[in-house]
Amino acid sequence: MNDVRPPVRAIPVDTLCESKCDVVVLGCGIAGLTAAYELQRSGLSVVMVDRAEECGGSHRSRNIGPYTFDSGSVFFEPTHPMFDMFDGILETCQPVLRKQGRIAPDGTVRHYPFAASEFLTWPLLLQLRGISSLLTRRLHASGQESAEAFCLSRLGHVIYEYSGLKYYIARFHHAPASEIDILFCEKRMNFILEGTRIPAMARTMWRLLRGRSTLPQRTYPLRVRPRDGFGALYGAIRTQLENKGVSFRLGARVLELARENREFRVKTTHGDIVARNVVGAITLESMCQLALGEATGLEKIDLLTLFISVSQIEGFEGNVLFNFHRLGEWKRLTIYSRIYGKAKEREYFSVEIPLASDGSRDALAAFRNFCRDVAQMGIFSKDLVLHDFDILEDAYPFYRKGCGAKISDAIGRIETFGIIPVGRQGRFAYLPVSALVIESTRAILTEAATRLRKSNVPP
Ligand SMILES: Cc1cc2nc3c(=O)[nH]c(=O)nc-3n(C[C@H](O)[C@H](O)[C@H](O)COP(=O)(O)OP(=O)(O)OC[C@H]3O[C@@H](n4cnc5c(N)ncnc54)[C@H](O)[C@@H]3O)c2cc1C
Repeated sequence: MNDVRPPVRAIPVDTLCESKCDVVVLGCGIAGLTAAYELQRSGLSVVMVDRAEECGGSHRSRNIGPYTFDSGSVFFEPTHPMFDMFDGILETCQPVLRKQGRIAPDGTVRHYPFAASEFLTWPLLLQLRGISSLLTRRLHASGQESAEAFCLSRLGHVIYEYSGLKYYIARFHHAPASEIDILFCEKRMNFILEGTRIPAMARTMWRLLRGRSTLPQRTYPLRVRPRDGFGALYGAIRTQLENKGVSFRLGARVLELARENREFRVKTTHGDIVARNVVGAITLESMCQLALGEATGLEKIDLLTLFISVSQIEGFEGNVLFNFHRLGEWKRLTIYSRIYGKAKEREYFSVEIPLASDGSRDALAAFRNFCRDVAQMGIFSKDLVLHDFDILEDAYPFYRKGCGAKISDAIGRIETFGIIPVGRQGRFAYLPVSALVIESTRAILTEAATRLRKSNVPP
C-alpha cells in the first residue's frame, strides 16, 4: 500500500510573521470557503487557516495508479450554489445519474431508502403484521426523544426492522438507536417524516393500489467532482479567492484563540494573525478548547474509508450501495467505475466504515471483515484488492440522546467569546449535503452582518 502521510513542507518565512486582517476564517472546508467568499464581497480582508494542506475539508480524494478515490462527498445538486459562486466549476463536474440501492436484511438489493412497493413483495403474514404495527404505533405515538422511538412511531416495529433501518442506524453509531437522539433522524432521515405524513401515505396507498412504485427514481443527473479528484475543484476555488485578495495559511495548526480588547489573536504554527472578527468553520470542540480551554462533552464519529478494486460486481447495477443488512461494519460503498468508467478493466470503489470512539482503526482487519461479509451477501467476485485507506476525523456528529442542550451550550459559549461558528463542524450539525452548509453559512453571516467590523474602523 502507498504511504498515506502528506509530504512534510517547509513553512514559508513570510507566513511566520504576524499579520492583520478584518476576519480570520478558521477551516477551509465548504463552510469556510463560503464565509471567505461572502466576507470579501462585503469589503472585508480575510485570512483563512486550515491544518490541512489543501482546501475542501471533508471533500478529499486519493489518486492511486489509475484509480481516484474519495473519502467524503461525491454528488452535487445541479443547482449547487458553489457553481454560481465560482467561475468555470460547473463545467469541470460532469453530470451523472445517482443510482442508489440498499442491501436489505434478507440479502436482496432494494431501492434506497425504501419503496413502499417493496412491502408487497413480503410474505402476506409479514405484510399484515407490518400494517398492524404501523397503525398501532401511529395511533398511540408516545415520547420521541430517541431515534428508535421516532422510527417506531412513524413506521411500526415490523417495517423498522425488516427494512433494515434499525441495523443501519446502529451501525452508523456503534450504538443502538434507542441511545441516539431524535436529532439524528430530523437531520439525516427527514425522508421518514416526509414519507409518513398522512397525505403522503394516502398518495402511496393510491399508487400501490394502481400497481405503481411509490417513490419515483431521480431522473435528472447530479454533478460529480472532476475525474482527477477534488484537488482540481478546490484548487480552482482557492485561486479565484486569492485573486480577490483572500490569503490562505494551509498546513497551519491553530494553537490558541485569544481576545485582546476588541481584537482576536489567532496563534498558529505559521505565526499569529490579529483580526477584529473570527468566523469558525473548524470543529466546535477545537474552538472551545482553543478559546476557552474547555471541552464540550460532545462525541463525534470518525470514518474509515477503504479504497478497493475488483474485477466484477455482481447483483448490483447502481453506483451507491447502502448496507441495511444485519451483517457488516460498512455502511455505504461508492462505485467510481460506474461514474468515471473502469480502470485497468477493473471496477473500483470506496467503502465507508464508521469508527467506534474506543474501537479498532486497523484497516486490514476491516478489509478482511468486509470481504467475509460481502461474500455472504453474494455481491462481489473473489479478487478484491485493498489499495489504501483514509481516516476522516469528525466525519459526523454523534447525536447521543439528550445532546441538544450540550450543543446549544457550546455554541452559546463560543458566540459569547465573540467567534461566529458556521458549517457542519462549527455548529456540530449534521448538514447532510454541502449545498445546505453553504445556505446555512450565508444565513448566519447575514444575521451577524452588523457585528462584523473592519479592523481600522472604530466601532
Ligand atoms: C462520507 C461523507 C459523504 C458525503 N457525501 C456528500 C455528498 O454526496 N454531497 C454533498 O453535497 N455533501 C456530502 N457530504 C456532506 C459534506 O461533505 C459536508 O457537509 C461538508 O463538506 C461540510 O463542510 P464543512 O466546511 O462544514 O466541514 P469540513 O468539510 O469538515 O471542513 C472543516 C475544515 O476544518 C479543518 N479543521 C478542523 N479542525 C481544525 C483545527 N483544529 N485546526 C485547523 N483546521 C481544522 C479541517 O481540516 C477541514 O478542512 C458528505 C459528508 C461525508 C462525511
